[in-house]
Amino acid sequence: MGGNLEKDWEVLVIGAGPAGSGAAAAAAEGGCKTLLIDRKKEIGTPVQCGEVVGESLVRQIGLKIPPQAIASVQDHTRFLLDRRLMVVSHEPYWRSITLERKIFDKLLAARAAEAGASVQADTRLVDLEMRDGKVVAATLMHRGKETTVRPKVVIAADGVHSTTAKLMGVTLYPEDTMAKGIEYEMVAKKKLPSGMQIFLEPEVGLGYGWIIPKGPKRANVGLGVIGMEESRRSAILDWAAENPLISEYFDLDKVLEVKSGDAPLPGFLGGPHRGNVLFAGDAAGQTLAFVGEGIMPSFACGNVAGAVAAASVRARSRKKLECYDRAVKDIMGGELEKGGALKDAILGAWAESSITEGQRTMLCGLIMSECIFPDQAEEVLPLITQSSTRIAARIREDIKKRRARAKISVLRHR
Ligand SMILES: Cc1cc2nc3c(=O)[nH]c(=O)nc-3n(C[C@H](O)[C@H](O)[C@H](O)COP(=O)(O)OP(=O)(O)OC[C@H]3O[C@@H](n4cnc5c(N)ncnc54)[C@H](O)[C@@H]3O)c2cc1C
Repeated sequence: MGGNLEKDWEVLVIGAGPAGSGAAAAAAEGGCKTLLIDRKKEIGTPVQCGEVVGESLVRQIGLKIPPQAIASVQDHTRFLLDRRLMVVSHEPYWRSITLERKIFDKLLAARAAEAGASVQADTRLVDLEMRDGKVVAATLMHRGKETTVRPKVVIAADGVHSTTAKLMGVTLYPEDTMAKGIEYEMVAKKKLPSGMQIFLEPEVGLGYGWIIPKGPKRANVGLGVIGMEESRRSAILDWAAENPLISEYFDLDKVLEVKSGDAPLPGFLGGPHRGNVLFAGDAAGQTLAFVGEGIMPSFACGNVAGAVAAASVRARSRKKLECYDRAVKDIMGGELEKGGALKDAILGAWAESSITEGQRTMLCGLIMSECIFPDQAEEVLPLITQSSTRIAARIREDIKKRRARAKISVLRHR
């Protein structure tokens, strides 16, 4: 096995998540000798993700997801705002597919292997030798043995706490732009409502809670919060036990899996590169920052990173790596920029001191569900202090005018 690692690699991809596997497939298809490594013993495991992807994004990217990687499909999303309002959106972005990420990630890595890349699980990047801002050698650890490789291009797809970035001394986004996530995959007491459910409420804080169906009676129930103060386990257990809309379905005694991790939400950073290193996926903050959706953007951006790396190797020109930023803008720029703008608007609403915390979460939820545009937030402020019935009536008018595929109704859980 050590012999295999010692080849004359042209492209080294660190991390076999969606970004890395997308990158390795494209680099191999571009004719490069490509090595894809991941420190995990089994690619895709453990899962640190809600596993849901927007159907419209999947279609836009043109990724064929094999049926065995799909757990369920949802044709709408419900937003539960301060337990007082419910928005049901059938807009294309809010139709979703829940993946089995263990299967999905492994299949993407298998596709990279089929495209010609070498793939090694249980292999970790431990050191980089830099010269003039470029990586000249990478030290990899596999089964206690170190191997040094000298790739022409490195693709850092090693996730939110990127080892590559740390070894290079690069900070692409600060810690405080990350959300902490925790999630239980659970079996429900009774059949779940069909759509994905998103909860914005003071009990959650700056972020949101979710029920992401994985089957009629199985779901990921989780929280993603910026500035989570308590331990992740207490946060999810306390919230799920206390929220009547969760406890109606879950008893917390049927937990199949615990998943936790951090999600980068810096907003749009384009396609960052340093020397001969391209950063892709979470390592580059390539998520839709208002919700933290990163699977599809990471795959798409990783894919262009691999193609750009191959073009650079073929042309023997490092200058070609500069095309990466443009290529990311072309393929995902619109979505990533919009995600960043929505996140900024949500942060603005959260900082609004003239309204209560509950009202703030309602405002954030109306922005997130796109019932109001970010630039309407100020205008809506006086409305948000009124009764749920009044708010619903006014938002209903807006939805109608805009012909949005959404409905709003009043809940009585306060
Ligand atoms: C709680 C939570 C819920 C989420 N829910 C969703 C969701 O529902 N939908 C969605 O789209 N996104 C979601 N995300 C975000 C999503 O998981 C990420 O955006 C996505 O996985 C990014 O893909 P990636 O390939 O960049 O990184 P990752 O999937 O994190 O892959 C990085 C890989 O690099 C490997 N690695 C790291 N360091 C090294 C090293 N030194 N050597 C070798 N390998 C290394 C890791 O083992 C890992 O396999 C969620 C995130 C969190 C934390």
